[in-house]
Amino acid sequence: MANMVINGQSVAAQNGGTLDVISPVDGKSFTTLPRGQAADVDLAVKAARAALDSGAWGKTTALDRGRLLVRLGESVLEHHEELSLLESRDTGKPLSTARADITALARYFEFYGGAADKVHGQTIPYQEDYSVQVIREPLGVTAHIIPWNYPAQMFGRSVAPALAMGNAAVVKPAEDACLSIVSTAELALEVGFPPGALNVVTGLGEEAGAALSGHSDINFVTFTGSNEVGVLVQQAAARNAVKCVLELGGKSAHIVFEDASFKRAVPAIVKGIVHNAGQTCTAGSRLLVQKSIYEAFMKAVAEAFAKTRVGTPEMDLTCGPVVNRSQFDRVNRYIARGLADGLKIVAEGTIADGVPADGYYVKPTLFSAAAHESDLFTQEIFGPVLDRERRASATRRARHQGRPGVYQRLWCGRRY
Ligand code: NAD
Repeated sequence: MANMVINGQSVAAQNGGTLDVISPVDGKSFTTLPRGQAADVDLAVKAARAALDSGAWGKTTALDRGRLLVRLGESVLEHHEELSLLESRDTGKPLSTARADITALARYFEFYGGAADKVHGQTIPYQEDYSVQVIREPLGVTAHIIPWNYPAQMFGRSVAPALAMGNAAVVKPAEDACLSIVSTAELALEVGFPPGALNVVTGLGEEAGAALSGHSDINFVTFTGSNEVGVLVQQAAARNAVKCVLELGGKSAHIVFEDASFKRAVPAIVKGIVHNAGQTCTAGSRLLVQKSIYEAFMKAVAEAFAKTRVGTPEMDLTCGPVVNRSQFDRVNRYIARGLADGLKIVAEGTIADGVPADGYYVKPTLFSAAAHESDLFTQEIFGPVLDRERRASATRRARHQGRPGVYQRLWCGRRY
């Protein structure tokens, strides 16, 4: 059974409640985690506040904070394989992807550990007898609501800079994938983080997550996940007048022009939607291709799509299962909707022989061109499903939209 980390202790929920942890690999429960409630969140926020006000964390110098973060990064690397196995079991990712994610987790702590004592204030010339300074201070107690698609990475990206700058953190990982986060918080205690600096409360979003985002003694909240919950978190932050950072969904387009290198573009398009089973907010889930190369290009994409393979983490194929039953049903609903709308499946990958029957495996699916207003073309599916379009005017349309990000992200246009 996994625990939470509150005030330097590895603890269960105060009311003893637990949740089953289901692996998407076989659809079976393999451990439990505490079902934290508002009372557990309150303890964690109080511990974080005390660590800043009267505890050791508030007195830790930037230099020593940096050293602790670097030490945590090193400890993550020492436990790399064990954390990677946990992450892949929890999320279903291929092992090589989980290993890369754990390496990234360590890098976040190393990077921000190095930055901890290099963020300085300013002195501003004003007028005689005045001394004007900008002093950078921590915000205080920071709340971090983490999604399940890249739990380890998102935890590192969110928490490492907050701790480096002297904030205390209370983390609510996603109920679907949180084991690598709890383990990393336990490693933080081992390497010497003082009690209350980093707390992790597990549980359901509508219980522990809502209690954390609405807690009256947090100074900042950051959230990554669905648009619907993002709005709730923003409302809660507004009620308490605290800063709020949201990272929500997307429906990113890949735009391919006639001078693109097929050799480079095709694998990038397939990876862009199939990596992590399509569960990435920047997944390239729409494909716009210039008319002059459409047939030839789509033939190449279809051939590459047909070679994708889905399997267990140990099989280490193109991708693994999607994270949970509801995500599995959601992606399959979109596929069914596409077929009901008259679209054709142009190519699909295969699910490897020998995967457990109750796992959440979805074939990567390439659809024929959809109407602009169709759900497949406009909504974030968050699965390995790609829709395509032929446009004579792909270039003009993108330019008229005046979205420089589109150009910066292009890997297959003239600039490269
Ligand atoms: P979600 O938004 O419900 O969950 C994300 C996090 O928010 C989890 O930690 C969850 O426990 C927490 N949460 C849920 N309800 C909450 C509440 N009322 N208050 C505070 N926290 C709450 O996401 P989901 O339902 O697991 O996934 C649904 C969709 O969200 C996906 O299909 C995808 O479109 C999107 N998503 C996007 C990202 C991303 O990286 N941008 C990540 C995960 C999910």
